[in-house]
Amino acid sequence: MKTKIVATLGPASSSPDKMEALIKAGVDVFRINFSHADPEALISQIKTLREIINRYHGRCAILGDLQGPKIRIGEVKGNAVKLEPNMQIRLAGGNGISDESLLWISYNELSKDVKPGETILLDDGKLSLKVESRTEEGFLMARVLVGGILTHRKGVNLPESRLTVPSLTEKDHADLKLASQLELDWIALSFVRSAKDITELRKEIRRLSRNWNPGIIAKIEKPEAVKNLDEIIEVADALMVARGDLGVEMPFEQVPAIQKTIIRKAVPMCKPVIVATQMLEGMLTNTRPTRAEINDVANSVMDGADALMLSGETSTGQYPVEAVEAMSRIIAETEKFPETYHRPQFHPGTKTSRAVSDAIIGAAVDLSMQLEAKALLTYTLTGYTARKLSSLRPFAPIFIFAKSLRLIRRLNLHWGITGFVQKNLHYTDDNLGQMLALLLREQQVQKGDVVIKIAGFPMKEKVKSNMVVVSRV
Ligand code: PGA
Ligand code: MN
Repeated sequence: MKTKIVATLGPASSSPDKMEALIKAGVDVFRINFSHADPEALISQIKTLREIINRYHGRCAILGDLQGPKIRIGEVKGNAVKLEPNMQIRLAGGNGISDESLLWISYNELSKDVKPGETILLDDGKLSLKVESRTEEGFLMARVLVGGILTHRKGVNLPESRLTVPSLTEKDHADLKLASQLELDWIALSFVRSAKDITELRKEIRRLSRNWNPGIIAKIEKPEAVKNLDEIIEVADALMVARGDLGVEMPFEQVPAIQKTIIRKAVPMCKPVIVATQMLEGMLTNTRPTRAEINDVANSVMDGADALMLSGETSTGQYPVEAVEAMSRIIAETEKFPETYHRPQFHPGTKTSRAVSDAIIGAAVDLSMQLEAKALLTYTLTGYTARKLSSLRPFAPIFIFAKSLRLIRRLNLHWGITGFVQKNLHYTDDNLGQMLALLLREQQVQKGDVVIKIAGFPMKEKVKSNMVVVSRV
C-alpha cells in the first residue's frame, strides 16, 4: 500500500496487545493527541509503543498533536444549560461556571477581539450565537440563532473574529517540552493562522533541543489558514486537512474543494498531506463502515493524499483494529485504480541547486513507468530524493536506505515510501547488490524484476542525485 494510515492512540488502543494489532493492521504513524493525553501516562506508553514498533520493522512514526489556541466553554451549572432560540445572553471571557444568563468562554480577550455582528459557534457548530453589542462592564451581549442543550467543556469556534492569542499556549509549551524528551518524529500544530505560527514553533523546537528535529505539520482548520495557504505550505513540512474544525469554521460544503486544493498545491512541493476526521466515524460503534465512508476514504486516495487519519475510531471507539483493517482494505483496492499515479511528462526545469537532481529523479520515475519497474531505490542522507520521488507518485514502490532510523521514521508519513536502516551499507558506488539482497530477503522484489536506482556519484563526496541505474534482479 502506498497511502499511509495515521491512527490516534487513546484508551481504546493503549494496551500493548492493541498497539501490536494496530501495527499488524497497517498503521504507519501513531498520533498522540495532547488535548486529551495524560503527560504522566504518556512517558511509559511511548516507551512501550517504541519497543513494540522496533520488534516489527521500526518504521512507524509517532506524531504529537498540539492543541493550540482551542477555545471551550468551562463547567455548566447543573450539567446542562438550555439555550432557547432568539433569547439574549451575556458572554464573558475567562473561566467560570456558565448558566442560562451568562456563558464563560475560555478566551480572555473575548470582548476585545469579538465584534458585534460576528458569529460564535458552540459544540461543533450545533449551536450558534450572533454578537449584538458590548456592555460597559466588558461583557458581550449575544442573540441565540440556533439553540440547544450545552454541556460541560464544549468547543467554541469564532470563525469571523481576528484572534490575538499567541499560536502556542502555555499548555503547548509544556507539551512540546515533553515531546522533545520523547523525541517524537512529527509535531502538528492546531489552528494555524499564518506562516509565522509555524516559524515560531520551529524556533521553539530549536531552542528546546539541538538534536531533536521533528517535522512540523500545519493543521488547516481556520479560514485564515485557507487564505494564507501558499505561505503556510512554503514553511511547513506537512499539512493536515483538519476537517473537524474546518467544517465548523468554514461553510461545510466548501471542505471537499479545500481538501483537493491543499493536496494539489502541497504535494508537488513535496509536503505530504494528511486527510483527517470522521473518515470511518460510524465504526465508533459499528464493525463495518457506511458506504459514504468507504467512498470518502477511496476518494481521498484518488485525490492524492499521502495519509488518511483515524481519530476517535482508534482512540475511543469500540473497534479500533477493525477500523484500521477496513481502511487498509479500501486503500489497497482503490490503489489498483490508476487515477492517482504519475504519467510520464516533462518536468519543468529550475535554476536552483536542485535542478540536476530534480531532473534525474523525474527521469527515473518516467523510466520506472515505461519499464514497469518493481522498485525505485535510493540511499538518502537528507531525505530529499525520497520526498521528491514520493511527490511524483510513481507506480513502483519507493525503497529508501538510510543510516538513521529517525529519518526512516519521519519519511514513513510520505506516500509510497518504505525505509530500511542500513548502518554498514558500503559507502561506495556499487552498493546496489547489497540493497537488492535486503529487498529479496524481505520479499519486496523477485528475481527478474526491473529495478531503478538513483544515486549521487561519486558517493564519497556526498553529491546530490545525478545518476540513474536500471538493472534486473
Ligand atoms: P482535532 O483536529 O481532532 O485535534 O480537532 C482535527 C480536526 O479538527 O479535524
Ligand atoms: Mn481540530
